[in-house]
Amino acid sequence: MTKPIETDVVIIGAGPCGLFQVFQLGLQGISCCVIEALPHAGGQCAELYEDKPIYDIPGIPHILAGALTDRLLQQIRPFNPTIYYGQTVETAQIKEGGGYKIVTSQGQTLTAKRIILAAGAGAFTTVQMRVEGIEFFEQTQLFYRDFPDNQSAKEALSGKQVIVSGDTTAAISTAISASEFADKTTYIHRKRRLNANDATVAALTNTVDAGKLCVVNGKVTGYTANDKMITHLSVIDHNKETVNLPADMILARLGNSPKINNFLDWGLQSIRNHIEVNPANFQSNLPGFYAIGDINTYPGKRKLILCGFHEATLVAFDIAAQLNPNKPIHTQYTTTSTELHKRLGVTENRQVSGLDIIKEL
Ligand SMILES: Cc1cc2nc3c(=O)[nH]c(=O)nc-3n(C[C@H](O)[C@H](O)[C@H](O)COP(=O)(O)OP(=O)(O)OC[C@H]3O[C@@H](n4cnc5c(N)ncnc54)[C@H](O)[C@@H]3O)c2cc1C
Repeated sequence: MTKPIETDVVIIGAGPCGLFQVFQLGLQGISCCVIEALPHAGGQCAELYEDKPIYDIPGIPHILAGALTDRLLQQIRPFNPTIYYGQTVETAQIKEGGGYKIVTSQGQTLTAKRIILAAGAGAFTTVQMRVEGIEFFEQTQLFYRDFPDNQSAKEALSGKQVIVSGDTTAAISTAISASEFADKTTYIHRKRRLNANDATVAALTNTVDAGKLCVVNGKVTGYTANDKMITHLSVIDHNKETVNLPADMILARLGNSPKINNFLDWGLQSIRNHIEVNPANFQSNLPGFYAIGDINTYPGKRKLILCGFHEATLVAFDIAAQLNPNKPIHTQYTTTSTELHKRLGVTENRQVSGLDIIKEL
């Protein structure tokens, strides 16, 4: 068991709203830790529509969802938050004497004065293959992320008949890279249309044309095993014909889908899996436990990034007021406040013209 970590605030979720929450807390001089189920930040923007443009972020006519994540990460850099990736928050309990104790799926304990739930549509978890019994081969022949014992792709794939399955861009990229080392590589996609940008599809076509990769459009329905090893995967194609593909190794890249925690166990009031909050400060029924972004609900709620940014701003002001009950919390402008400049690490008054910003975008 690792040593408990103490922090002012724990943010659950590093989607766009959780990231902007770090920024707003930083402006108030409040430190925080972030826990994120995925191995990276961005939430839905990263997982569901990274390559698609967003047109309704104020002041930015259009930006790719992936680029928005990069910019949010850049914006929070001055506050240097600790982000724990690849773990979910499993329990959050009120501590005797105030504050909260949080335990993650990796057994990490954190204590915090306040919690902000920015869990969106839920914790993104790896989609598993839906083939009965195939789970027994996980980490021997079936891999959802890495290779055995952190072997390099070359060591793991050389001389093997490899199947890569999935409708994600990651699946196509994995198939292309696997074809460099494997004896034979087959890429199976279920949807009729390839779900990837033009450059990725072009790279796939080139690899197929070079004779390094086969593509099968169909659904994996079963497997044949021999001496406790999978020998073939069965795939039914769109003509309802079954093909049996030789398989030494299966690289499943089926993406991640969100799974909601049981927040009732945490004592939070919810309506249809959305946490009820007070729209004045976005606090839940639990003291010092806030919810922002897609996970919350209140009269008039809209699931938009812009709305989550507003919620994050008011939460930061509320927490600053609660943690400093004897100090008035004034509205300060980032343009003119020397205190905010100090927190942001701005040493001189940067003269950036509007035109420069547009060029940068
Ligand atoms: C296709 C598509 C297009 C969209 N286009 C737009 C648009 O143009 N404009 C717009 O404003 N909005 C758009 N949206 C909506 C927007 O993406 C969401 O409103 C936004 O992502 C919500 O941000 P969030 O931070 O609240 O949650 P999310 O983005 O869902 O992020 C939540 C994060 O929390 C993590 N998490 C959850 N539970 C736990 C836990 N227990 N432990 C650890 N981590 C956890 C998740 O893994 C996830 O990474 C679009 C959505 C989709 C699907």
